[in-house]
Amino acid sequence: MSLDIRMELTKNPKAKPQDESKLGFGKIFTDHMFMMDYEEGKGWYDLRIVPYGPIAIDPASTVLHYGAEIFEGMKAYRRVDGSIAMFRPDENGKRMNNSAERLCLPEIDPEMWLEILDTLVKLEKDWVPHSEGTSLYIRPFTFGNDPHLGVHAVHHSTFVCILSPVGAYYAEGINPVKIAIESDDVRAVRGGTGYAKCGGNYAASLRAGKRAEEKGFTQVLWLDGVERKYIEEVGSMNVMFKINDEIVTPKLTGSVLPGITRKSCIELLKSQGANVSERLISVDELVEAAENGSLQEAWGTGTAAVVSPVGWLSYQGKEYEIGGGKIGETTQHLYDTLTGIQWGKIPDTFGWIHPVC
Ligand SMILES: *Cc1c(COP(=O)(O)O)cnc(C)c1O
Repeated sequence: MSLDIRMELTKNPKAKPQDESKLGFGKIFTDHMFMMDYEEGKGWYDLRIVPYGPIAIDPASTVLHYGAEIFEGMKAYRRVDGSIAMFRPDENGKRMNNSAERLCLPEIDPEMWLEILDTLVKLEKDWVPHSEGTSLYIRPFTFGNDPHLGVHAVHHSTFVCILSPVGAYYAEGINPVKIAIESDDVRAVRGGTGYAKCGGNYAASLRAGKRAEEKGFTQVLWLDGVERKYIEEVGSMNVMFKINDEIVTPKLTGSVLPGITRKSCIELLKSQGANVSERLISVDELVEAAENGSLQEAWGTGTAAVVSPVGWLSYQGKEYEIGGGKIGETTQHLYDTLTGIQWGKIPDTFGWIHPVC
């Protein structure tokens, strides 16, 4: 496929950040962004790369009132051989389309998806930072953009893709975090939008995250929305446990986001002969395992951090330490292997790497 993309390049390129240790996450953006519009019956049109900047939308636009928005999060890496590559971007494209289907937003053809990402990342390749652990974060999103207030599926949408150079997630080493099990708020329910990557899920999760932070926790562990009994996710990451040498992760029941890091961890561990189960795991089972010492490790998985070890869990006023509050061997192994494949230090036997330039 060769798309017709109109190019409007900036006349005022920004200076690239000098000190890559201060990049942080999602604070600065590259010179250009990709945009296109959608109209029912016409499809996607006016594909364009334009200077990064504010976009004008009608005050009556659907997204501002009814939250019709979906997004993706992925990274481009500068590899040890100097080339630039993405990690499983086809999986993000599939998930974007599953999210679109759920929110009645338009889907994007898989070939078109890859060509848009390749074209934009190639144009902005000098923005991919060089220091170890840094990357170029890619944030594609689609929102409903009908300029009237009637509540119905949208007829006009806009797709945008912005890029942000981000710092090493673990600049000071991987430190296990403290997590509070949340018994009041829920993130998602079966039949709702939990499996879709939509902005509304995040809006609904902010209060619990804020309360947990105020009490000294990094994030919350979400329970299912019906019985408040089964473990679902940790913050905005999927969660995995090692109990009696079995790797357990909540199965995808509809309220859990199907993470690509989750999927990659499962595929990697299975290929190495580990005992991996996708099943329901109740908070009672987890607390019992923590009490009797069979809970060996707990960690979150997601694109931003790859893995994030959980050192302490708090539930109903009690605190449980996991693995002595230190990163466990499986967590460390997953981090080393996945980042090794991403950075080109370990051969990619799975076909996960998508070279860009
Ligand atoms: C994006 C996301 C994840 C992680 O998905 P990855 O594809 O691994 O980055 C997990 N949970 C939620 C709620 C998410 O939005």
